[in-house]
Amino acid sequence: MDILHSQKDELEEKKNEDFSKYASGLSRLRRRRWFFGVVILIYLPSIWLSLRITNSDRQTAKVFVVWLVLVFVSCLFAAAGKCPRCGNLFHVNGLTPLFLRRCLHCGLHITADKKQHREEIRAVEETRVEEIRSLKRAG
Ligand SMILES: [Zn+2]
Repeated sequence: MDILHSQKDELEEKKNEDFSKYASGLSRLRRRRWFFGVVILIYLPSIWLSLRITNSDRQTAKVFVVWLVLVFVSCLFAAAGKCPRCGNLFHVNGLTPLFLRRCLHCGLHITADKKQHREEIRAVEETRVEEIRSLKRAG
């Protein structure tokens, strides 16, 4: 019974957790992820552009090497990002980085701060709608 009770308390605590205190840490993580994603996305356009402009495989190979270095650096940069809640590496548990949207240690979502903000706004809007409805009913 006690275990059940404490688990319930823990869940309640998590539900009421204030994610806004993680906002700066999470936005830093999002920026690193975004940079990594952009570097991956520019691969095809940059190779295509290089072939178009230089018309040379050798020159394009240099572009490829630069891109590869950028991918490596941005991957390390993203993987080194720490979770603002538990302090562990957000994307690494063990040896290989996994770029999921939740912390691999505590499960904090990458947009937990934004999601909570949206829910708060929705709750305020719902109470306003309720107020307007009750006013209309009264008058
Ligand atoms: Zn965490």
